[in-house]
Amino acid sequence: MDHVCAYTNRPEDTDRKTLMETDILVIGAGAAGLSCARRLHDQGLSVVVHEARRRLGGRIRSHHPDDGGPPLELGAQVVHGDRNPVHAFVGAERVRQLPRDTAAHVVRDGTAQDMAVLGRGRRAPWQIEAQLHAAPGPAGLSVGGWLRGRGLSEAEIAASSEWFRQNWAADPDRLSAPGLAAAQRGDLCGSGEYTVDGGLAAVPALLAEGLDVRLGSPVHEVRHRPGHITAHTGAGTVTATVAVVTVPPTVVASGGLRLPDLPAAKHDAALRLPLGDACCAVVTLDRPAPESAVTLDMDGRTGFLRATAGRPEIVIVAKAAAAATVRAAIADQELLLPMLRTALPWAANSRIVQVTPADWGTDPLSGGGFSAPLAGAGTAASAWAEPVDDTVFFAGEATRCGKGLPWLGSALLSGELAAEQVLEVVGRR
Ligand SMILES: Cc1cc2nc3c(=O)[nH]c(=O)nc-3n(C[C@H](O)[C@H](O)[C@H](O)COP(=O)(O)OP(=O)(O)OC[C@H]3O[C@@H](n4cnc5c(N)ncnc54)[C@H](O)[C@@H]3O)c2cc1C
Repeated sequence: MDHVCAYTNRPEDTDRKTLMETDILVIGAGAAGLSCARRLHDQGLSVVVHEARRRLGGRIRSHHPDDGGPPLELGAQVVHGDRNPVHAFVGAERVRQLPRDTAAHVVRDGTAQDMAVLGRGRRAPWQIEAQLHAAPGPAGLSVGGWLRGRGLSEAEIAASSEWFRQNWAADPDRLSAPGLAAAQRGDLCGSGEYTVDGGLAAVPALLAEGLDVRLGSPVHEVRHRPGHITAHTGAGTVTATVAVVTVPPTVVASGGLRLPDLPAAKHDAALRLPLGDACCAVVTLDRPAPESAVTLDMDGRTGFLRATAGRPEIVIVAKAAAAATVRAAIADQELLLPMLRTALPWAANSRIVQVTPADWGTDPLSGGGFSAPLAGAGTAASAWAEPVDDTVFFAGEATRCGKGLPWLGSALLSGELAAEQVLEVVGRR
């Protein structure tokens, strides 16, 4: 295998109107696009990946502290499961299981408490979610409707609702109860939480080794007729026999990638697969954390916060309504410190040194965090995944929405499935 990485990331590339020919054009260098390109390249096809950002990885984004401290994650946080394809892609020696004994806290009614309070004298949110997965109710039932029909106390409903918002990036009244259960059943990744040496950004970096990836090269429009692709990119026009679209459906729905020759059903599917809101940040304080802990704000303002003993950074991962609160607090840091002090009392006398945000909800290249199964979305994910004219193929986490958990494992698998479809068609031609 050729190990020379042919990334181009030069500003002059965007000005030059070149005509490039390739077998396969892959659009997007996230986990899905790179796993697809990897497989096709390894089968001897000529593959070019065009990526709008000037970096690999899409919704995987590792942050490296200035003082050389361990990397922190601004997008995907952990590798879920001992059978996640990440293990095979990066090699077992690079993957580490996360400690299971990290302290877990919640903020409830404005006070930080041990997370165990959620299960005292009532059913804890994770127990309630397990019950939902076992008996989710009929098609069309929302998670909110399911929660209200279970004879739960108001406190149980409030805590579970925030739990669902932070784990599935959408309000319970929008989430499909049977959709969540099906996604959980379909998950093939197993159990446990893992990280990768060097941060999760090592995953796309390893996948991209030896591939022709054009960074800073957005694809604006793809025209097609059977067996022929014409794509207008930031680097000029590309022709190919096949294109694999791996951008989130929100990018197509918002016009960030125009696909005028697709049937209307495709555009309708893209509209029905919105990504839930998410906003993350690494906040560096002027003092280190005294303990490693994860804190979930049940009051709905900050989502999950993660601190590591001896390190000055706090990672905020906020989804659904909390994403908007965190977004506002990043814009006005007078709001941010009180939020942190409520969640992490040890931060009481500290000062913010630096904030590194990753606002996925307002990012036009992602349009949100990830795609949870929504009530009323029906078969949108299958429709979005369906190839068109054996010429335009689709991958990306959203193509597996409701068939697996909306995370990296699904994105990688979707790329491999699209590669199989392409190989089948190329083999027939
Ligand atoms: C806050 C947050 C927390 C998460 N936590 C976890 C977690 O703990 N574990 C986990 O497994 N997963 C997690 N995920 C989900 C995970 O990050 C995604 O499922 C996965 O990265 C999606 O990969 P993808 O290739 O499908 O999409 P993307 O990573 O979005 O890749 C699509 C690529 O297409 C590019 N693109 C867009 N438009 C164009 C265009 N016009 N032309 C060219 N390129 C374009 C984008 O820049 C992007 O690089 C999290 C996501 C977020 C946002």
